[in-house]
Amino acid sequence: MHPNLIGGEWRTGEPFLNINPSDLGDVIGEYARATVADCRDAIAAARGAGKAWGLTPPQARADLLYKVAAGIEAEAGKLADLLAREEGKTLREAAGEVLRAVQLFRFYAGEALRGPGERYDSSRPGIEIQVTREPVGVVGLITPWNFPIGIPTWKIAPALAWGNAVVLKPADLVPGCAWELARIIHEAGAPPGVFNLVMGRGSVVGAEIIDNPGVDAISFTGSVETGAKVLQGAAARGAKVQMEMGGKNPLVVLADADIDRAVQVALDGAYYGTGQRCTASSRLIVEDAIHDRFVAGLAEALAAQVVDDARKPGTTIGPVVDQRQYEQDLRYLDIGRGEAHLAWGGAPLERATRGFYLQPALFTEVRNDMTIAREEIFGPVAAVIRVKDYEEALAVANDTPFGLSAGICTTSLKHAQHFRRHAEAGMVMVNCPTAGVDYTAAFGGRKASSYGSREQGRYAVEFYTTVKTAYQAM
Ligand code: NAD
Repeated sequence: MHPNLIGGEWRTGEPFLNINPSDLGDVIGEYARATVADCRDAIAAARGAGKAWGLTPPQARADLLYKVAAGIEAEAGKLADLLAREEGKTLREAAGEVLRAVQLFRFYAGEALRGPGERYDSSRPGIEIQVTREPVGVVGLITPWNFPIGIPTWKIAPALAWGNAVVLKPADLVPGCAWELARIIHEAGAPPGVFNLVMGRGSVVGAEIIDNPGVDAISFTGSVETGAKVLQGAAARGAKVQMEMGGKNPLVVLADADIDRAVQVALDGAYYGTGQRCTASSRLIVEDAIHDRFVAGLAEALAAQVVDDARKPGTTIGPVVDQRQYEQDLRYLDIGRGEAHLAWGGAPLERATRGFYLQPALFTEVRNDMTIAREEIFGPVAAVIRVKDYEEALAVANDTPFGLSAGICTTSLKHAQHFRRHAEAGMVMVNCPTAGVDYTAAFGGRKASSYGSREQGRYAVEFYTTVKTAYQAM
């Protein structure tokens, strides 16, 4: 039984199971489901410990983060295996995500030491102004299942670095990596209450984090539907909130694109991670002159993919994460067959073990007003929309309720620059996949994709600190 971490103590509870989507007979472990009372205790512990933590010298916070980074690095192979086993992404992808967690803890250890702030003379004589950043207090972190160590880390590391106390509620589908991360943070010597883990249902534990006045700020990543509840709850009590949600990310392929590169960019962006990435390229907007060659190239690339157990060497696309997501993907495939042309794939697959295996699917003759071009599927499914020129491509790319990531494949400097300026998205990719970002740069979107300030890089300081302006007569 993997217990919750509350005020520095491990606390058991009613168990729930963590199941391997590559092999439904493989139970990874039992995890303690936190109750509302557990969650309240965790928040109270964080409140109790937060003040002192926020006043520790930056070196103490940096030292803890460096230790956590070293702890993750020392167990990187084991953690990558666990990640692939509980989430279903390939071992290669899982290893990359674990490495990212190490890098993030190191980056924010450095940020703790750099200490943001400024001092200047007042416009009035004899007065000095100091603008400093202080911790927000207790932050509640609610995370999704698709990056089981990456997303918790890119919230926990800046939160701790800038002196906040944390209550983490990971997605119930992937408690394993979050639990190991909690253990490593605990073993690295985080003072009791500074970091708390409460595993459990969103409607119970997540809802308590949203409503409890002891939580000063909430960082949420997940679906648009849950995001709406988070925003309502936070607004009702005036809590600071930041949200990253869905996407329907366009990848424009112009006639002058390097076709091999465009196919690789589309393959990676749309299908790796089993298409279960908020930044996945689910709309491939292709100029007429290159359309048929691009579709043929992508279909050929899909035929070469190996869909199998996430931990098997040679697998390039792992299973879908669970039954519910699998059924959602199949439902959208049915809708797509009714609306457009299924050019490749889309069949459920059987493998040596029972799991949620699905052939990647490519639809063509898609119009941007069709359901499969409007709604986030969150599976290995992409829709090709044919356009006559760049202007139409840009208009189609921007015609969506979402605005997370937008990409273009072109060798034209003019179009690349124009797209960078005019794409209505938080992140723009030129000749690289819409998914796959840098931990040192701002992460986030526009429109229905995001709310509040950016995550990652130095931009995270905006959410995890609050500004104080001090005037002092000299
Ligand atoms: P989800 O919204 O179902 O769950 C996200 C988290 O919210 C989970 O921890 C869940 O338990 C919790 N939750 C559920 N109901 C809640 C409630 N009523 N109150 C409080 N918390 C609640 O999302 P998911 O299925 O885990 O993840 C998939 C979604 O996440 C997709 O829509 C995807 O686009 C999005 N996502 C976005 C980003 C991004 O950065 N934009 C990154 C990854 C995933």
